Amino acid sequence: MALTQIGDFTVDRVVELECAPFGAIEFFPDLTPEMLDRCKRELPRGNITDEERVVMSFHSYVLRTGRHTILIDTCCGNHKNRPGREMFNQLNTPFMSTLAAAGVKPEQVDYVMCTHLHWDHVGWNTQLIDGQWVPTFPNAKYIMARHEYEHWDGVYSRGDKSVHRTGFEDSILPIKRAEQAVLVEDDFELEKGIWLESCRGHSPGNVVINLESKGTRGVVTGDVIHHQIQLTFPTMSTMADADRDLARTTRTALIHKHADTGHLILPGHFPTPSAGRIESSGKDSFRYAT
Ligand SMILES: [Zn+2]
Repeated sequence: MALTQIGDFTVDRVVELECAPFGAIEFFPDLTPEMLDRCKRELPRGNITDEERVVMSFHSYVLRTGRHTILIDTCCGNHKNRPGREMFNQLNTPFMSTLAAAGVKPEQVDYVMCTHLHWDHVGWNTQLIDGQWVPTFPNAKYIMARHEYEHWDGVYSRGDKSVHRTGFEDSILPIKRAEQAVLVEDDFELEKGIWLESCRGHSPGNVVINLESKGTRGVVTGDVIHHQIQLTFPTMSTMADADRDLARTTRTALIHKHADTGHLILPGHFPTPSAGRIESSGKDSFRYAT
């Protein structure tokens, strides 16, 4: 059964990993012990472990529109070097089998859409075949925001050793070389009812992906909202946000825009069930209704 339906669009979720990679206080540098206590009391079980670590899912959304099969964000990928991220280094998960079980063969994917180009959202863009990184989805066009691509292309050219540069090298450049990358502006519309919206801060060219069909709305939010802690405290930026002040501004605006509207929110890392709505729960505080 599908995760959810948005009008004529069917949405499934394909999970690569669900784990607790970071301590809550480590991941949210501005989170006080009192704030964490409140989150532990108020958030549904399964979001914060007894060891006060944040539970995160790494998943792709599969969107079937009737015309196209679209994969939104592609998790971490297998066999990839991820310097400084031991937990994600040289992964070997059954993601492709899970995708097949969701009824998706690689050659059926028409589009891969990227909310942003961090390594944990582009990993399955490519796979290792005979020592080469090749596109996992041979018939797909990979939709990337031009501003985001150009930022990471610049980082790549400068030659630092960051995990993001490594991800760009093994998961983005092979797509570009295969001429499967399509660089688009921030308001790009893929087909009726599927369009991008700029939401910069977590990464320099971050976008969210809006969905609308038959009067029903949804939005794939990538990492603009990482964790339900940020619904309790919308101003809480993470250590993974490139520009924490801008991320705070865009996150808060996105939450207010969709709160109490009935729009489905499909975040990049919320653990199961990963499809819900934002509802007000007090002054400047919200909850995820599933
Ligand atoms: Zn992420």
